[in-house]
Amino acid sequence: MRAALPLLRLPLKRASAARPLGLRGFCRAVVSGEDAAGTESNMQPPFGFLFDIDGVLVRGKTPIPAARKAFQKLLNSQRQFLVPVVFVTNAGNCLRQKKADQLSHVLGVPISQDQVIMSHSPLRMFKRYHDKCVLVSGQGPLLDIAKHLGFHQLITIDKLREIYPLLDMVDHDRRPKALHPPAVKLPKIEAIILFGEPVRWETNLQLIIDVLLTSGYPGNPYSQSPYPHIPVLACNMDLMWMAEAQSPRFGHGTFMVCLENIYKKITGKELRYEALIGKPSELTYHYAEYLVRTQAAAKQWKKPIQTLYAIGDNLMTDIYGANLYNRFLEENSRRGSNARVQVKAASGTGSTTVSQEDETDIPWGNELASASATSCRSVLVCTGVYNPHTEVPSDTKKSITETVFHGHRDFRFDPALVEPDHVVQDVDAAVDLIFQLESFIPNGNHRTP
Ligand SMILES: [Mg+2]
Repeated sequence: MRAALPLLRLPLKRASAARPLGLRGFCRAVVSGEDAAGTESNMQPPFGFLFDIDGVLVRGKTPIPAARKAFQKLLNSQRQFLVPVVFVTNAGNCLRQKKADQLSHVLGVPISQDQVIMSHSPLRMFKRYHDKCVLVSGQGPLLDIAKHLGFHQLITIDKLREIYPLLDMVDHDRRPKALHPPAVKLPKIEAIILFGEPVRWETNLQLIIDVLLTSGYPGNPYSQSPYPHIPVLACNMDLMWMAEAQSPRFGHGTFMVCLENIYKKITGKELRYEALIGKPSELTYHYAEYLVRTQAAAKQWKKPIQTLYAIGDNLMTDIYGANLYNRFLEENSRRGSNARVQVKAASGTGSTTVSQEDETDIPWGNELASASATSCRSVLVCTGVYNPHTEVPSDTKKSITETVFHGHRDFRFDPALVEPDHVVQDVDAAVDLIFQLESFIPNGNHRTP
């Protein structure tokens, strides 16, 4: 494939566009409602799907037409999934159940919350912070989300602003009318969790910087550059995302760029992350594979899940993440399946910031250690952030040197990681392609290639 990318101008040489698939025969059985009950024992797919949501299944709140069509192919006549399916989204402003309900409505198929991974879902592993006083930044039902993840002592930016009304002075209309000292004394804030982009960026930026420069006591004057600062855990590094507008919109990654640069400008030092989670972090894919295996086990499928197919619209998120995980799986296969799984909490790669390999408090550690997949294939769709119609640069070497890297600061730019294994028009074509690659016939016959 040779196409210029609007967000990342790279010639992608290995990737191949999907051919016309002619899969009508494959899918006819499912569309016509042929009963799989008698054949299901033969239908044990050795693969699973990881679907991105925005730009693949929906744009904003508007369903992408190919999505419903694709999902009809994934169900048997009893409306059960024929293949393990997990939705891996970097969205984070709602609970998993709400996202599952939204997906059920959009796709017209029953989705359970156990099939959904939000950007913040792996935070349930960070147990050592669950009992600490934590500042949370983002929007939506943050307290509910954080409590579901296991956190107990939570402070929102709004609460902090209420207790320390002198801190937020950018918006003149929101400055305090009377100057009172804080009526409540807060315990030390011991960590900051960035769940997603907030509504009032100036307020969150100011108060987070205050907490960092006072070692967790934002009512105090700035102290002598405490460094390393208190831990910061961030979910969702997407610089941009695709809604209904013609061009991508600011994502949480843009907010993080602001925070990182303000911190560095003020202190001269790099903002450090204790963990970066959500795609493309390996941790998120470990969790996704775990959920895929769980689904297969629940159906009493004995065949190991060998291949994961990650379908997304964002090179720096979906494709980079899938390829990064594929590298891990290949390396793991070389070392032997019994090798101890090292979970990278932050997948920073050689930057000046923390690249912490954190074994965390993994509740599914044993399951991770028995990971069965040997590959993770990336499939890029053209219904979201990626636009295949942008002009192709004539000098491909130049296009590499002039690359605009839209990934996070702590993720190394590696051209090989943003090469999709396949490029297709939409999610329906992706499902067709994968069924073809796996020789999987939805009416119950899994052909051995
Ligand atoms: Mg997307």
